[in-house]
Amino acid sequence: MVRLIPNHVHGTAGGYSNWDCRCSPCTEANAAKARRAKLARTNAPIPRHVHGTDNGYTNYDCRCDPCTAAHTEVARQRRRSPRTQGEEE
Ligand SMILES: [Zn+2]
Ligand SMILES: [Zn+2]
Repeated sequence: MVRLIPNHVHGTAGGYSNWDCRCSPCTEANAAKARRAKLARTNAPIPRHVHGTDNGYTNYDCRCDPCTAAHTEVARQRRRSPRTQGEEE
């Protein structure tokens, strides 16, 4: 089924995420948005409550001891309980 995508939507991140459009202007706009968001996150000071969480390590690229430890712990738990990944076999 082809959805008719309004012209003004193309070239926006919304075209990519809301309309599932994968034309190059939409893809590029979405990539640019993701880049900006990542840049904003990594440039902004990391909120204190984020430290010591996997979120700090993964989304804020923080490599301080508490964040690294939290990330390591999450990775270990994922390995230990494969059920959470839906791999029960
Ligand atoms: Zn498009
Ligand atoms: Zn941290």
